[in-house]
Amino acid sequence: MIKRQTMPLQDKNIRNKNFDEVALGFELKQIKIEASRCLNCKNPLCVKACPVNINIPKFIKEIIKDDYEEAYSTIYKENIMPGVCGRVCPQEKQCEGACVLGIKQESVSIGALERFLGDYSLENNIFNKENIIENNLKVAIVGSGPAGLSAAASLRRLGYSCDIYEALHDFGGVLRYGIPEFRLPKSIVDEEINRLKNLNINFHKNTIIGKTLTVDQLFNEYNYKAIFVATGAGLPKSLHIKGENLNGVYYANEFLTRVNLMKAYQFPNSPTPIKVGDVVCVVGGGNVAMDAARVAKRLGAKEVFVLYRRDMEALPARREEINHAIEEKIDFRLCLNPVELIGEDYILKTVKAEIMKLGEKDSSGRKRPIPTGKYKTFKIDSCIIAIGQNPNPILKNTTNNLKVDQKDRIIVENCQTSIPGVFAGGDIVTGAATVIEAMGAGKRAAESINKYIKSTL
Ligand SMILES: Cc1cc2nc3c(=O)[nH]c(=O)nc-3n(C[C@H](O)[C@H](O)[C@H](O)COP(=O)(O)OP(=O)(O)OC[C@H]3O[C@@H](n4cnc5c(N)ncnc54)[C@H](O)[C@@H]3O)c2cc1C
Repeated sequence: MIKRQTMPLQDKNIRNKNFDEVALGFELKQIKIEASRCLNCKNPLCVKACPVNINIPKFIKEIIKDDYEEAYSTIYKENIMPGVCGRVCPQEKQCEGACVLGIKQESVSIGALERFLGDYSLENNIFNKENIIENNLKVAIVGSGPAGLSAAASLRRLGYSCDIYEALHDFGGVLRYGIPEFRLPKSIVDEEINRLKNLNINFHKNTIIGKTLTVDQLFNEYNYKAIFVATGAGLPKSLHIKGENLNGVYYANEFLTRVNLMKAYQFPNSPTPIKVGDVVCVVGGGNVAMDAARVAKRLGAKEVFVLYRRDMEALPARREEINHAIEEKIDFRLCLNPVELIGEDYILKTVKAEIMKLGEKDSSGRKRPIPTGKYKTFKIDSCIIAIGQNPNPILKNTTNNLKVDQKDRIIVENCQTSIPGVFAGGDIVTGAATVIEAMGAGKRAAESINKYIKSTL
């Protein structure tokens, strides 16, 4: 039995003081060993479990033959960002979760192989020149996150001219402003997006659709045949407790945006510091909370703790992220629910949290947290709230007849919204999900847009 290879990591006591990548990637020797573990199943469940259906056994066979160029090309046909997805996909729930080898042994490390090929292609400048037959029809894409980027690539391959409109001053959505450098280096995001520029996708920054331009204008003045809305879920949820407006309280999105997009992680080489102080409390137990806590530690906080209202078992973050956080000396204070943030002269000083006990399982399958009426207080310098995100309502508020549900998610049928010719996908439809699910939605929307436009000609 050949054992699953272990990902080499930066030392835990060094990495919690820098923003360099934590996971270092497999060496070539490990890639060969890992590829040789694939059973090459007749009915590859890993392909079905991948939201963009990459032909995984095929690219692994090509790795075994040392044909890395072909292996990269096999992935790139289905996934335009293997360097990104190899790093951030929750593979344990997708391809690796379905790997047949995983039933009796450990699954093949598919994500690490994908990452290797993405990096190999960038390092060796391997890029498929695509033969695009132009059809002279225009589609507008709103939002440059994974859903928008993937829809644009699929539509270009079908011959459409694609314009991506992005509200921020740089492209990539959460890949750019949310996921920290130590998990996803910005150089990988830059290079994989640059490849899309080679496909002649037009990128427009600083353009908020719903403010700078409206959906009506895109149709009537710019003559787009269809619009794909991929605006994500970037609006933070609030705790709705006293003291949330004190200095020192951040929402994870604004905190991470300041650190990533505005490059506070490079201070003093960037002019945008962010103050965290010595003791930081992060509220929430998901992946965003883990990212915020690990960033705060790297920014120099002496003590960072996660406040979560259930127990360790119920933490929704990926196990890998929780383990990395523990190794980096992030503390977990569990069964605690913040009820008040207390300050002096408008400056945050203390968090007051109610002790919870766990009751019967609720509809989420986790034990319901029940208030006990007993409290604990902790002295803190800053508090980062990471309890989830909702879609931003700008587009809904400025577009007549665009139907959304009670959580402001756009309602679609076969990727089409309530407005003919307007399609939507990614987090704006599903609520906060994953990079690869957003990319899958972008691909499916491109097919629906193609059918729709053909039917109108
Ligand atoms: C901190 C954090 C960490 C995460 N980590 C992971 C991870 O490790 N693995 C994983 O799979 N998923 C992760 N996710 C989730 C994942 O990033 C999202 O599910 C994914 O990015 C959704 O893609 P999207 O294209 O739908 O939206 P987004 O990535 O949110 O992109 C939407 C884009 O639209 C732009 N936009 C919004 N409104 C407008 C407008 N009116 N006009 C023009 N542009 C607009 C936004 O500025 C943004 O650039 C993480 C999320 C966060 C917040």
